[in-house]
Amino acid sequence: MAEGELDRRIRSKTLTDLRGIGPKTAAAIVQAHAGEVPEYLQRLEESYAELVPLADDVAEFRAALRGDLHTHSDWSDGGSPIREMAEAAMALGHEYLALTDHSPRLTVANGLTAERLEQQLDAVAELNEELAPFRILTGIEVDINVDGSLDQTDELLGRLDVVVASVHSDLRASSAAMTERMLRAIENQHADVLGHCTGRLVIGRRQRNGTQRPRPESTFDAEAVFRACVEHGTAVEINSRPERLDPPRRLLTLANEIGCEFAIDTDAHAPGQLDWQGNGCERAVECDVPPDRVINTRTAEELLA
Ligand SMILES: [Zn+2]
Ligand SMILES: [Zn+2]
Repeated sequence: MAEGELDRRIRSKTLTDLRGIGPKTAAAIVQAHAGEVPEYLQRLEESYAELVPLADDVAEFRAALRGDLHTHSDWSDGGSPIREMAEAAMALGHEYLALTDHSPRLTVANGLTAERLEQQLDAVAELNEELAPFRILTGIEVDINVDGSLDQTDELLGRLDVVVASVHSDLRASSAAMTERMLRAIENQHADVLGHCTGRLVIGRRQRNGTQRPRPESTFDAEAVFRACVEHGTAVEINSRPERLDPPRRLLTLANEIGCEFAIDTDAHAPGQLDWQGNGCERAVECDVPPDRVINTRTAEELLA
């Protein structure tokens, strides 16, 4: 927001009229604007002072990543414009960022219709001219429908740089049904990355429409699914969101033994969340995933080829 508007809102105490700004955030803004360290931040830093930076081997792994292949903007359920996501990625040293907003059926997340996705492609092309050599890769997090088909037109999926395919519904289906559904999606020629494969939530999370409770993993024949990923060149995502950390270690170890490729992604819905890749790298190191099997260690050209 413009400098003048911020001053005016602080004076008139109307920061909380803005969407997403509650009393705690407003207090932090007022204190930061006055040049103070916000009390809230001070308290967090005191409580978590024992947190240490990434271990050396994890930091090294993280440094090998050149980009992020699963992120959201305010076109779907993210909180920020595409440009802000891209600029945050650039500040982290990324060479590219795949913009993977949700597909039409995920209406709760304002999924993009074919028309809106076409508009987004134009917006990304314009931004890319300005931000080069940084590159926003076009993409989608496409829902895997119950029958295993993907929730966007074939034509559009074929035009996108990165297609992350994820299950977001009927998570408690039988193992046989879930396996069939996932196999069909993995076999789809457009599927590049299998997103958060078990759908688990290890901790509850707050959303705009209330609290989502933790939920267990979906059940499926993991060996068959990971073998199909190898056969069809679909990378298994290591999702770095703290409430997901998906796949769990035992499945990540299995996928690694089977020879899968991986994408270490943040699934960021806000610029600050792009910094979560360390979580996924920690998992990768723990489970002995070799960096050369992680597709986002590659340059954009190698990746697209
Ligand atoms: Zn998802
Ligand atoms: Zn996502």
